[in-house]
Amino acid sequence: MMAICTGCSLLCEDIEVDFKDGRISTTKNLCRKGLGRYRSLYTERASPRVDGREAGLDDAISRAAGLLKEAKRPLLFGWSNSTLEAQSAGLDLAQKLGAVIDDTSSFCQGELLEMVLKGELPTCTLDDVRNYADMIFYWGSDPSNSHPRHMSRFSYYPRGEKRQRGYDEDRTAFVVDVRLSPTASMIKEGFFKLAPGGDASFMESMLAALGGKIPRLQDKKKVIAMVNTMKRADFGAIFPGLGLAYSMKGRMDILKRLVDGLNETSKYSVIPMVGHFNMRGFNQMLFEKTGFINRVSFADGVEHGPKQSIIEASKSCDVALIIGSDPISALPGGVARSLAKIPTIVIDPHRSLTSELAQVIIPSALSGMEAGGSAIRMDGVRVEFEPIVQGGGSLPDVEILKRIAEAV
Ligand code: SF4
Repeated sequence: MMAICTGCSLLCEDIEVDFKDGRISTTKNLCRKGLGRYRSLYTERASPRVDGREAGLDDAISRAAGLLKEAKRPLLFGWSNSTLEAQSAGLDLAQKLGAVIDDTSSFCQGELLEMVLKGELPTCTLDDVRNYADMIFYWGSDPSNSHPRHMSRFSYYPRGEKRQRGYDEDRTAFVVDVRLSPTASMIKEGFFKLAPGGDASFMESMLAALGGKIPRLQDKKKVIAMVNTMKRADFGAIFPGLGLAYSMKGRMDILKRLVDGLNETSKYSVIPMVGHFNMRGFNQMLFEKTGFINRVSFADGVEHGPKQSIIEASKSCDVALIIGSDPISALPGGVARSLAKIPTIVIDPHRSLTSELAQVIIPSALSGMEAGGSAIRMDGVRVEFEPIVQGGGSLPDVEILKRIAEAV
């Protein structure tokens, strides 16, 4: 049977799965990360709980609805591992409750993705990259780890319509990072090592070289040679990762200047390396509805800003619904302390640190395996998937959210 992997935002659609005695026995084409996702079908699964005790699914849903109904300032957080259908139901619920809604992009790739969605940075699809790109630039990203099939399916190794001769002849790649990552070690000649936080200055150096001036930083000859090669490319793709997002916070205008400068002689696109399988879907949906990609409150019309991020909102909200996310593990300790003071509802296929502290746990079916739906790939392409195994009694996220909304 063919399946889609929801292990990362590449949403690989060429996965082959065989079954024995109702369980997955063998798979083909999964990377190690995807294999982990498939294996998670059988490990650490959540079960319905209310106030630390086992409960029925109906009781858990009804308690969740009760908590949300009584709340004065509910926070709905997560969403990057939910289907588009669940995200849409979540937005309806947020509007009905007058809640704050935020997702993981709020503290990772949000700024970059917003620029792409607003048309401030040119973009293209991964299929365009495979077919046409002769210049690949991984900036603060390490696809070999984060999206293990990125280089082989789309960006570096594959042959494409206009790139028939293989990566060593047809594509040039550069890597900019603070360490010799696994990706950088594959492209050693094109690797530039920066000091942490040095991305903006390095970009200024590239801009200087682009304008015919001597760059201030790094091996000047190497920077000039790189920029000249980049200027001569037919089709370039820049893949910024978390390293760039953290280092450049609030200064992405420099990246825009660089891309604009390169596009005076060539054609460059930017595809942010979003991690979770449907973060972009949530950001696009909220953007279409409100003009903002995250950090929105529906308490009084539409309000947006840092106060509506989980970091700030967790201090002022009185109930939090967390879906498909583990903020207590992933976010600063202050968020965990704030969330520990209020009732939390967790909807997740798996147990997590956040679910350990939750008043209500509602187990959900694993999207892409037990539940079908759709999602937006990192490059904006919509992908549909069907369930390949029975949900073991868990409902898809979208059904849980609809039932909560009905009961609120
Ligand atoms: S690259 Fe991502 S989507 Fe593809 S198989 Fe690996 S984890 Fe799954």
